[in-house]
Amino acid sequence: MNPFLLIALYVAVTLAPLGLSLWSGNGPRSFGDELASGAGMTALVIILVEFVLSGRFRLISRRIGSDVTMRMHQLFARTALVLALLHPFLYQAPFAPARPWDTARAETLFYRIDFLTTGTIAWVLLIPFVLLAVARDGLPFRYEVWRALHGGGAAAIAAAAGYHALVGGRYSADPVLGAFWLVLIAAAFVSLAVVYVVKPLAQLRHRYRVVAVTPVAERTWEVDIVPEAQGAGMDFKAGQFAWLNIGHSPFSLRENPFSISSAPANRRRISFLIKEVGDFTRTLGAVRPGTIAYLDGPHGHLTIAARKEPGVVLIAGGVGLAPLMAIARQARASGDPRPFVLLYGNRSERQIACRGELDAMARDMASFTVVHVLSEPPPGWQGARGLVTREVIADACGGTIRPDWLHVLCGPAAMITGVERTLRAGGVPARAVLCERFTYD
Ligand SMILES: Cc1cc2nc3c(=O)[nH]c(=O)nc-3n(C[C@H](O)[C@H](O)[C@H](O)COP(=O)(O)OP(=O)(O)OC[C@H]3O[C@@H](n4cnc5c(N)ncnc54)[C@H](O)[C@@H]3O)c2cc1C
Repeated sequence: MNPFLLIALYVAVTLAPLGLSLWSGNGPRSFGDELASGAGMTALVIILVEFVLSGRFRLISRRIGSDVTMRMHQLFARTALVLALLHPFLYQAPFAPARPWDTARAETLFYRIDFLTTGTIAWVLLIPFVLLAVARDGLPFRYEVWRALHGGGAAAIAAAAGYHALVGGRYSADPVLGAFWLVLIAAAFVSLAVVYVVKPLAQLRHRYRVVAVTPVAERTWEVDIVPEAQGAGMDFKAGQFAWLNIGHSPFSLRENPFSISSAPANRRRISFLIKEVGDFTRTLGAVRPGTIAYLDGPHGHLTIAARKEPGVVLIAGGVGLAPLMAIARQARASGDPRPFVLLYGNRSERQIACRGELDAMARDMASFTVVHVLSEPPPGWQGARGLVTREVIADACGGTIRPDWLHVLCGPAAMITGVERTLRAGGVPARAVLCERFTYD
């Protein structure tokens, strides 16, 4: 599906409760009351759609990319928080028993203990919920604990807010809007079930085993896995990523997203280039061959499979090399005749991963150029120095930035933002720049 169609669909779903309320024929109330209802309904619709956005549906992540999807997830959550916080304070009508003559419920607010309690629970939970998500990296507990709190909290908020809207919302009494809420609440809980029950069940039938864990640079490993059953493994495109779980039940929350670094041409052996940064990645050196692994994927849109540009510039920072390595390996395996230029930035020489293989590619493939860029080069360093600047890119591409070539970027967020700006200023159109961030903030 076209990404613009997905965005249009999102906007249409978000605005649907407002449209349905207008259409319901209820008489007008004070401006504050209408604003309060609108804010509450829009907050609820955003919250429920968040489940679908973060449900790892390939239809979404393959079209607009997982980092963009997650960025949208974060921005929408903040919007929902503001609207939900305002919702009760905008009302002007009093909470009081309904007046017998007020059949359109314009003069008082719905007055029932379950309605008030569920609304208050959702409202109170939402504040620490969003704060915990914003402060995630600074929290003193494991990522998996955070994930359990995030999933459980989201489910509790959706259930309480959904009930609140369904039993007491003035407009939700309309059968069409009521049905809309029921469908959306069901979609939210189905999305949760897909991630935590359906996918793990499917993974039980497609187990992998670790066959090698190889150090490839300072604090960086390449992990190779093969499917237990005969035949090929996952069907993916070079540049995509998967959620990898090594040594735990597929129902455990201990899985992390990693780009696949091997070429799809070699589908039986799937590799990941992984840098030690935290709880799981620091244990990689202790993982033994034979350990069971599970994959959820492929996900992501960082692929050049259908792209026809006459040349490809790959720009990697640190372990951002992983998906670009898969693209380079696939280019070699498929004999892609186009010129490929890899600009690979690191701080020090010890951090350069897969150096031998990259240099061999540059030697063996006439159309493959590798430029190592170090910000802290050792004495006598022959490669480029500093950051990946306009001059470095132009030098590697024959003296000028190539607006007609495809540019694929992966690395630290600051580097991607800087390089993307440089490319756009050099005349490269947005459609010729693909990027993926490993962190979202
Ligand atoms: C699409 C994508 C592709 C990635 N590809 C690679 C890759 O090819 N190689 C590589 O080394 N790293 C990659 N990463 C980053 C990698 O997922 C994290 O470094 C890893 O999950 C950290 O796990 P940990 O338990 O060691 O760290 P933790 O101690 O749990 O946390 C360290 C940091 O990693 C982040 N993190 C932890 N778990 C996750 C998770 N499940 N999802 C997102 N962020 C998490 C935390 O926010 C924290 O900032 C990728 C991330 C994404 C989103």
